[in-house]
Amino acid sequence: MPTPPEPTQVSSLLIRRDARFACVGDGLCCSDVHVLGPVAPREVRRLTSRTPGVVRRHRTLRILYIDTVPHPVGGRVCAFLQPDGCAIHTQRPSTCRHFPFGLVATPLGLRVTTEHRCPCRSLGPRPALDIDLARSSLAGRFEQLRPNLRVGNRVLVEGRRCLSFHRFLTEVESPLLASLLEPTPEFSRLGEPFPPLDGSTWIDVAHLLRGYAAEGSSGAEAIGWFADTLLLLQGASTRAKRGRPWAWSFDRAEARGGAVASPEAVLGDWAADVLWSMTWTQHGSFAQGLSELATRLVVADAVAKRLQAQLGLRPDRAAAEAVMMAELAGALPLWDSVRASIRTSGQGTGRFTGASSRHGADRVAGEVAEQVGPEGQRQAIP
Ligand code: SF4
Repeated sequence: MPTPPEPTQVSSLLIRRDARFACVGDGLCCSDVHVLGPVAPREVRRLTSRTPGVVRRHRTLRILYIDTVPHPVGGRVCAFLQPDGCAIHTQRPSTCRHFPFGLVATPLGLRVTTEHRCPCRSLGPRPALDIDLARSSLAGRFEQLRPNLRVGNRVLVEGRRCLSFHRFLTEVESPLLASLLEPTPEFSRLGEPFPPLDGSTWIDVAHLLRGYAAEGSSGAEAIGWFADTLLLLQGASTRAKRGRPWAWSFDRAEARGGAVASPEAVLGDWAADVLWSMTWTQHGSFAQGLSELATRLVVADAVAKRLQAQLGLRPDRAAAEAVMMAELAGALPLWDSVRASIRTSGQGTGRFTGASSRHGADRVAGEVAEQVGPEGQRQAIP
């Protein structure tokens, strides 16, 4: 049995053992609205007084975001991204400052979590996660650390069965994290992928995701790869031809050199962080969270194999690109509906409501934006 990885505690911040990250400018996080994330309303005036019209409102995602411009090697990037980096680095919005970090308040301390979309986190040589970098990235305007999630003393494990946080940590989570971080991770310990959904099927979910993919951005292409692969795994067929989202960013990461990792290690590192982030507590029980993760992991593994077979990608790069796609799909509101409708041992916490987003997904095809004025009010785009 592998030794459970004890988290490293640094002045009340807990980082997952073996988490590795440093921003080396691979650039993915500064491109595409799906990755840029929202601008806070209070940040609009600062950005628009510098560059009028630079903030837009995304109707489908219902967020304010910085406008994007075409990138010389494909896709779109933030209007403030220059060849030598961010033009407003010291005044960049909080989502940019925080990426790829998150913060979860637990009874034992504040967990630093990391997202794996950018190859700076998932590919090539990376130093151990630097706690001072995480702290300064996460600190708010008054140096306060504000968690994006809080986990209480009782953890819902399955059905109505709860465990104290401490027992959950020692008996359930730590051994599982240890097995995911082994050189050959035991993915089967996550449980069965593709659990039954209350009110929908996985084929329905794949088709709804393909609605998002019609938008044509890099993020949409990524979701398209994920959706097509989900469809194939369900025995359906697809002839969709997809572009390569952020290939230039992964080119940069691959060119950094370093030892080639196994695809299993890339997937295991990501899966361990999904569990460590405890976001599953927002949507149901641990059992539901495991089934959801097992499903995205199987799809990501299949995407990686498709990328290797069709494009001859290096295995760890293919896995890193697949992780990016699985993470983006998992960030959609539609996927929250999937999470809540998962039935394990005959129980789910909610019915699938994503069908109501079919209309929304169709609307994405005619993508959309409205400029936003300095006070955050909408303005029609001429
Ligand atoms: S504001 Fe700066 S850091 Fe944020 S996405 Fe744009 S270029 Fe990147």
